[in-house]
Amino acid sequence: VANIEQLEAAIKWDTNGLVPAIIQDAASKDVLMMAYMNLDSLKLTLESGQSWFWSRSRSELWHKGATSGNIQKVRSLKYDCDGDTLLVLVEQIGPACHTGKYSCFQHEVPVAGQAGEQQLAQDAGAAGDRFAMLSKLESVIAQREAERPEGSYTTYLFEKGIDKILKKVGEESAEVIIAAKNRDSVELRCETSDLIFHTMVLLREAKLPLDDVLRELDKRHNSKK
Ligand code: AMP
Ligand code: ZN
Ligand code: ZN
Ligand code: ZN
Repeated sequence: VANIEQLEAAIKWDTNGLVPAIIQDAASKDVLMMAYMNLDSLKLTLESGQSWFWSRSRSELWHKGATSGNIQKVRSLKYDCDGDTLLVLVEQIGPACHTGKYSCFQHEVPVAGQAGEQQLAQDAGAAGDRFAMLSKLESVIAQREAERPEGSYTTYLFEKGIDKILKKVGEESAEVIIAAKNRDSVELRCETSDLIFHTMVLLREAKLPLDDVLRELDKRHNSKK
């Protein structure tokens, strides 16, 4: 790293020499966990490209995933306006949480006058945010990839791997073509849904954020104006 001294000076370390780091999924943008870094762990993170923290409970440097295998490949690292918080975008291998959950943030607390996250997602759909469920689906696919719940078809696809996913994308596109040729709108609706779902699983497998696809579409649209 070019200038670790400058970075060290820019960060407002707490009295224990620590700074909180928020860990976010670089593709789905879900917040995965929070942990503390000290200067050594920040250096190790920057040098290795994988996240290192300071474990307060064990009082030792902690290479995330060292025992579980659930490492985090760092895609970007930022600090905030006053330098007291880090934001780390990662490619998370497996679940981020030691409980086996995709994200550590599993306990939703009711807030007066506020709909829950589940309800908000439903409301967004009902309110005419027609594509709200795509980002929800992106998160669910990421969660299935991390947690591998039994009996889940998405789990099955990730277990089988890229060739199976590609085969399904191929099959579903052929089925879309047949449905359209047959002028069968019910079939076309179902097969297009299959194709979009499998394409999104493919994007996750390929570590390409849906955001990047949407940005590409937006770029084309804007360049034609
Ligand atoms: P790992 O770094 O994933 O190999 O996990 C090693 C140990 O670190 C676990 O047994 C937990 O004690 C702790 N740990 C792992 N992930 C988390 C997390 N997301 N939040 C808090 N502690 C964790
Ligand atoms: Zn701050
Ligand atoms: Zn956790
Ligand atoms: Zn199909």
